[in-house]
Amino acid sequence: MSEFPPIGPYTPEKRMLIDGKLVNSSTGAEFDNINPATEEVLGQVADGSKEDMNRAIGAARNAFDNTDWSTNHKFRKHCLDQLQVALESEKEQLRAELVDEVGTPVMLTYSAQLEWPLEDAFRWPANYIGSFEWERSLPDDMKLGSVSKRKVRKEALGVIGAVVPWNFPFEVTANKIGPILATGNTVVLKPAPDTPWNATRLGRLIGEQTDIPAGVFNVVTSSDHLVGEELTLDPRVDMMSFTGSTRTGMRIMEKGAATLKRVFLELGGKSAMIVCDDADFALALPSVAGSCSHAGQGCVLQTRILLPRSRYAEGVAILTAVMQNIPYGDPRNPGNLMGPQISQLQRTRVLEYIEKGKAEGANLVVGGGRPASQPKGWFVEPTLFIDVDNSMTIAQEEIFGPVLCVIPYDDDEDAIRIANDSKYGLGVGVWSASLDRGMNIANRIRSGSASVNGGNWYGADAPYGGYKTSGIGRQNGIEGFNQHLETKLMGWTE
Ligand code: NAD
Repeated sequence: MSEFPPIGPYTPEKRMLIDGKLVNSSTGAEFDNINPATEEVLGQVADGSKEDMNRAIGAARNAFDNTDWSTNHKFRKHCLDQLQVALESEKEQLRAELVDEVGTPVMLTYSAQLEWPLEDAFRWPANYIGSFEWERSLPDDMKLGSVSKRKVRKEALGVIGAVVPWNFPFEVTANKIGPILATGNTVVLKPAPDTPWNATRLGRLIGEQTDIPAGVFNVVTSSDHLVGEELTLDPRVDMMSFTGSTRTGMRIMEKGAATLKRVFLELGGKSAMIVCDDADFALALPSVAGSCSHAGQGCVLQTRILLPRSRYAEGVAILTAVMQNIPYGDPRNPGNLMGPQISQLQRTRVLEYIEKGKAEGANLVVGGGRPASQPKGWFVEPTLFIDVDNSMTIAQEEIFGPVLCVIPYDDDEDAIRIANDSKYGLGVGVWSASLDRGMNIANRIRSGSASVNGGNWYGADAPYGGYKTSGIGRQNGIEGFNQHLETKLMGWTE
């Protein structure tokens, strides 16, 4: 399809890494990896079975219980440094592979899809191993009549099941696996069936180019979500680290309750962008193009645009022009901001939401369907609804497509009320000529992250996660590091 080389070539890995060995499925089955931009089969990958998952969990349990991985801090740092070198040596292969299997515009591989996480997702937690306070003393205690010495000790949790979605697969994987391994846990990684190769590549690199012991890191690919569910059900797994839909996150909590699984959940969002009446519209409003990047398939993208009634017509005119000019199409074209939806199913979901928006009375002004220019691939046009009421389905539910809703508001209090009137709480953007005003509004939004006047908060040192049904726990930073640890309290007499 592409007249935009030169990315690639790359050699994909079909096999899973289980207990230090690259293996095919125990059943011999494979499934297709499909390019969402062309609908063509790129190749195959092992279709792991429940038996494969069972072996991977056993290997992770054994590596945790019977090696010094969890306590040998220096060795882990050494291994993570090796992994960094290995990943960097295949960066260009990873880039091409991600563009093909994810349908991400190559532009985004220079930021969140690849280069940002490659820069620090492994490096930051690896470096933090050395400065982290693994033990700390508490004051002596006399309650039992003699002196008790006391301390708090941090220990790895155990075996972690890491389940990853298809939208930013390498980014999510790296930001899970970095802290999981740095803290001394062992892991079974289960990528989304839509985007398996970046995960099997990671498995091969770990197996072949690092000293990470057999069983510490395992990857199981499968076309069947229920193979991944074994991680939630198995008593040998201590924690589930999940990124994906709120619906699946709730199911993991429910099914995990029987074994009291620890959970880290990074789920959906429906973030608002509040544009204050004093904001520079020419600066603020073009940034909505970012909410269509990767065809809107990002959990923290700001998809509810709140405009003041006093400048509504002016704002709508700019937004309409921005949305009409979003470059999209072939993901290999470096000028494109948007590629396809990940699958036919996902495109159908997005188109159904657009129909619901129309049926509920929102005013469609840009896009709304499949682009005539893209006969192949699961594309949806950049789509803009105006005059949206926040109670409408398109304003309440996560669409995960390039669909923006413009909602008018009366004053700052009204904007805050609307932004908070959501079951989600992942992010918010605020634009104002007054930084104080912008920060005050951001402080009152119930969300795990906030950007004022386009500021960036992202990084491996930054604890990212959601309020409300957007999640539990934090990925990255000191909070994320701690999340993978148990706390042991010790008292002793000398
Ligand atoms: P999903 O939650 O069903 O899938 C995400 C991952 O979970 C995949 O690896 C999948 O195989 C796995 N999974 C599914 N069911 C499981 C189970 N019972 N136990 C263990 N693992 C399981 O998401 P989806 O169906 O691919 O996408 C649906 C919606 O999810 C999207 O429309 C979007 O709203 C949302 N989503 C959010 C994010 C995010 O980053 N927050 C990412 C992807 C999708």
